[in-house]
Amino acid sequence: MSQVHYGHIYHVTGAPKVTDAADALVSIPDGALVIDDEGRITFCGNRSEAPEDSGTVFDHRPGFILPGFVDTHIHFPQTYAGDAYGGGQLLEWLNLCIFPSESRFADKDFAQQAAVEFCTRRIAAGTTAAMVFGSAFPHAQDSLFAETLRVGLRVVSGRGIQTQGGETATPLMTSEEDAIRLTREEIEKWHAADTGDVATALLHVAIVPRFSLSVTTETLKNLGELYDEVRDRGVYVHSHLNENNRPGTGEVDSTKDLYQVNSYLDTYDGKFLPGSTVGGKSLLGRRTILAHCVHCQDVELERMAETGTSISHCPVSQQFLGSGTMPWKRTVASGVNISAGTDFGGGDEWLISKVLSDAFKVHISEAGDAGVSMHPGEMLFLGTLAGARALDMEDRFGNLDVGKEADFIIVDPSQTPTLDAALTNLTRSDDPKLASDQELFALLMGIREPAITEVYVRGHRVEAT
Ligand SMILES: [Zn+2]
Repeated sequence: MSQVHYGHIYHVTGAPKVTDAADALVSIPDGALVIDDEGRITFCGNRSEAPEDSGTVFDHRPGFILPGFVDTHIHFPQTYAGDAYGGGQLLEWLNLCIFPSESRFADKDFAQQAAVEFCTRRIAAGTTAAMVFGSAFPHAQDSLFAETLRVGLRVVSGRGIQTQGGETATPLMTSEEDAIRLTREEIEKWHAADTGDVATALLHVAIVPRFSLSVTTETLKNLGELYDEVRDRGVYVHSHLNENNRPGTGEVDSTKDLYQVNSYLDTYDGKFLPGSTVGGKSLLGRRTILAHCVHCQDVELERMAETGTSISHCPVSQQFLGSGTMPWKRTVASGVNISAGTDFGGGDEWLISKVLSDAFKVHISEAGDAGVSMHPGEMLFLGTLAGARALDMEDRFGNLDVGKEADFIIVDPSQTPTLDAALTNLTRSDDPKLASDQELFALLMGIREPAITEVYVRGHRVEAT
């Protein structure tokens, strides 16, 4: 049945670059969103101009209607690993906390329980679409896909691939043969499994090597072959890049030492042999998302922009693990698409708006001329439309333009007293445009889970049950 939702609408219209997102920001204080029987948006505008008899009315005023949040980097097998303490930074934390925690997903019941919890947390956070770094265990991935489909969220995911590592990583590792066989089986079983068509599916599969330190050159070569074979079927690639640069023992130096390459990105670009010699096919492309990219060389940013590869920017996690800050201006200037990721449990927040809030804080704090005060339109873009672009599904969702599938959330500030008080008593500029920006900024900074009262994917209300 068609439906119409009333509320204050904010979204970033069209298909702008991040540098144009502020100009593309739309605010409709007394707005109406009309959705047809198929879950598509047929009208987004002033309530007074909405077609009459548009369907069942849902009046959320004085609440807000925003596009659903898109989280482009989050770890399913770290559902219970947020705020894990092991001392040290990324590599120490992985060995001491994360590999043991992820190994518990070998237990089928535990993995199933985690899949329910993971989807529940996503609904609470209004994350309608996500690139999910998967478990090493196929049964856990079965639970994730089945539970995601049951509740009606979108997901792109793939089992985490590891073929080398230390002692604590052993339960997560497989042989070279199994690494490819299990990944191939997951693609056949779950890629577009809900509709049989990637253009309409809620479920998609990615090829997910944990990071270059966790796989061999043989694995990278075989994954390149596999991706070359399935790329045209809309399969994705997901991994980490240039996250932690602790001198001597960090991930970036360790990777370059191990592979003897000129850049970390080369290991994902088929150039994983010493001296960055070509050893196989590239994993880069418009359905590839690399998380973090804090310490990229210019040549790496250029190559990502050229291939359409996206960045998942995860400032909450980068602070938690002492990884530094992705340089905003320099990364934006390269033209690469930047989206937002929680990186839970490297990050300790499930909410994309908390990622946007931390992005604002870290980038205004960058040294000298690198410091920037992000516009709230850029923040909203990062957490919605840029994520849809990173997932190569911008034509389907990410904003509330007519024709898109209706992925949106309702924000009721009265459920979060601090947000409610802030919005009620906000000192607004006399300039109406600035006043509107101020209101969105306060909203994005102040949203907490209880304020996200309703979540819709393709026009269907998604609820934890
Ligand atoms: Zn991660």
